[in-house]
Amino acid sequence: MTRFWSPIVHTLSPYIPGEQPKQDGIVKLNTNENPYAPSPRVTAAIAAASERLRLYPDPGATRLREVIAKRYGVAAEQVFVGNGSDEVLAHTFQALLKHDAPLLFPDITYSFYPVYAGLYDIRYEEVPLDAAMRIEIADYQRPCSAILLPNPNAPTGIALTRAEIAALLAKHPDQLVVIDEAYIDFGGESAVPLVARHDNLLVVQTMSKSRALAGLRVGFAIGQRPLIEALERVKDSFNSYPLGCLAQAGAIAAIEDEAWFAETRARIIASREALVASLDGLGFEVLPSAANFVFARHPRHRGADLFARLRERGVLVRHFRKPRIEDFLRITIGTDEQCGRLIEVLRGLN
Ligand SMILES: *Cc1c(COP(=O)(O)O)cnc(C)c1O
Repeated sequence: MTRFWSPIVHTLSPYIPGEQPKQDGIVKLNTNENPYAPSPRVTAAIAAASERLRLYPDPGATRLREVIAKRYGVAAEQVFVGNGSDEVLAHTFQALLKHDAPLLFPDITYSFYPVYAGLYDIRYEEVPLDAAMRIEIADYQRPCSAILLPNPNAPTGIALTRAEIAALLAKHPDQLVVIDEAYIDFGGESAVPLVARHDNLLVVQTMSKSRALAGLRVGFAIGQRPLIEALERVKDSFNSYPLGCLAQAGAIAAIEDEAWFAETRARIIASREALVASLDGLGFEVLPSAANFVFARHPRHRGADLFARLRERGVLVRHFRKPRIEDFLRITIGTDEQCGRLIEVLRGLN
């Protein structure tokens, strides 16, 4: 019975996450998780923190914000943390992106953005990617209240340079620019160094991908004080304790283990380059990726067919039934062995 629903609930079209299969033995390359375990220091820190489970966690996540601030060369007051960057983004939509003029984001991008816009009743316009599936900065030169871009973009994997982001900021001094850097650590240039000079820039990052903590749910935003304060006001009107003590302890340990981060990230980048070469060899067109996934299509095979064939043989990738990209597969970079399995199945095609 839906008669007890608030009216808005009838209008929502919720986000559909990638499948999390229950059976073992699946080569899971569909949700951009890290193929490596998080730093062993994370598990140790979580075990130690479990002695404090009886108590409420620090509502301000002070130590975590300090550690992130130090790592990124900003002040702790310029850092906001949340329960996954999805929550940070949700608060951003509510706190900073609801205005009379529309919010702009690409037509092919993270599919959660239109969902948040629906939830918070925010006007938006989609700006088409160009013919090469790139974000064209000049196309954002139109009336708007704010611009939201993932960098690198998802699901294309294509990155803008920091100079392009700086140019966008220079052209929009009176609009907020939000850069969602979920995949920045795999080859892009972060916009964080631009925060000091631009009061209209908010950079959002996650520990889910490059730090292998998708299950812990920790994301953060970096920006000048008034932007962070808006996020804090929404957070403290919603949930004072979005991050439990285990999440705070684990995230601190992950940021502090720079060597583990550097090594696993380098391995993923090396595997990506090898996978791109193999896909090239099989005749795929692969977009230039700066992320931990590639977006690829084959001139002679439909995306849906490739997806189904891989799935039958236990290899799960992501396929979007959407105009312009329905023949592409988004393939997460796994270990060399997992990527090898994918290539083996694709080699069997003719
Ligand atoms: C994965 C992803 C996120 C969300 O990550 P969390 O796990 O919620 O931190 C945000 N934006 C983009 C573009 C993503 O791909």
